[in-house]
Amino acid sequence: MKVIAKDYRTGKPVEMTWADGKITGIVPLPEGTETSLWLAPLLIDVQVNGYAGVDFQQDNLTEADLLKAMRGLQQDGCGQILLTLITDEWPLLLARLKYIRALRNANAELRAGIVGWHIEGPFLSPEPGFKGAHNAVVMCDPTVKHIDELLAVTESDPVLLTVASEREGAIEAIRYAASKGIRISLGHTNASVESISAAMKVGAVGFTHLGNGCPRTLDRHDNIVWRVLDQSALTVGIIPDRIQVSPEPFRLFYRTVGVAQIYYTTDAMAAAGAPPGRYRIGAVEVEVGADQVVRMPGQVNFAGSALKPIEGVQRTAEMLGEAWQTVWPCFSTVPARMMGLDVALEPCKAASFCLIEMGVAKLPKCIRVYLNGEEKGRSN
Ligand SMILES: [Zn+2]
Repeated sequence: MKVIAKDYRTGKPVEMTWADGKITGIVPLPEGTETSLWLAPLLIDVQVNGYAGVDFQQDNLTEADLLKAMRGLQQDGCGQILLTLITDEWPLLLARLKYIRALRNANAELRAGIVGWHIEGPFLSPEPGFKGAHNAVVMCDPTVKHIDELLAVTESDPVLLTVASEREGAIEAIRYAASKGIRISLGHTNASVESISAAMKVGAVGFTHLGNGCPRTLDRHDNIVWRVLDQSALTVGIIPDRIQVSPEPFRLFYRTVGVAQIYYTTDAMAAAGAPPGRYRIGAVEVEVGADQVVRMPGQVNFAGSALKPIEGVQRTAEMLGEAWQTVWPCFSTVPARMMGLDVALEPCKAASFCLIEMGVAKLPKCIRVYLNGEEKGRSN
């Protein structure tokens, strides 16, 4: 198999060949070689709570449900995800994870798409605003025992764990989890500067959806957004749907944090890739309008997003006034690096990549997703 496309980093034409699911060569072609396609590494979304009408927080999910969600994601441009489970009673959350992981492990298509797990809770801040749509009643302090129980289920899979570092015992739990290879992201937190520094010192590497998981009204002198922006080492997640973070702070975050330290995520829930209506995130029923805003009825806070991955790329480029090629790493190589995943396009590596067709305003119109050499979906 082969394709001729422009390298998204250089704009220069290349021919990539692959066989048996692996890249066999990428060679430059003469300038001026005609092609309308662009070649780029996979989009990786590290925070997906559900998709295409499927809520990952439900018990008794089936293999068909997971395939429906993954095929929906791949049709909308995203190749691989960390399947995300949110706050619940710890034993229930672990049981759900174990069950979903067994479904995933038994199916090659799911193994190719679900590359790890994001556990967002229950070690979060119960404070109003900071807790978001999470159930504060079942939140708890993290311990080494919790981390061992999590590792017993996930084994060597990539795991991202979102934690509020101000919780009792959190620094010790973060130190232990990080030493075992779990990636720690601070989030749904009102951590002090000292707490953030202490967490980073023992291995915290990320911050989950900056600008969300905090109250709508913040102290102008001192708040979690300033505290995170004031340090430079965390890899910061942001939801680019124009709703969770409005365009002005979105641009400020980009200018402050920089393209090498931002990853964009849909934080998608079941309504993404599905029509407007009522959906669930676990026990919570939410309303999703045609404007893609996900609301808990009667409340002002947002509860996840209905953003499609390709729309995330388009809106990011539009809001920032940047070429899509410039921001692509924030959907791909940056989150991959944070999680220790390899998306490099080189001989002998997996033939897992995107081919992008251009539309109007120099934005991607269609993303074709290939996993291990096979086309899995194309957006339209
Ligand atoms: Zn969240």
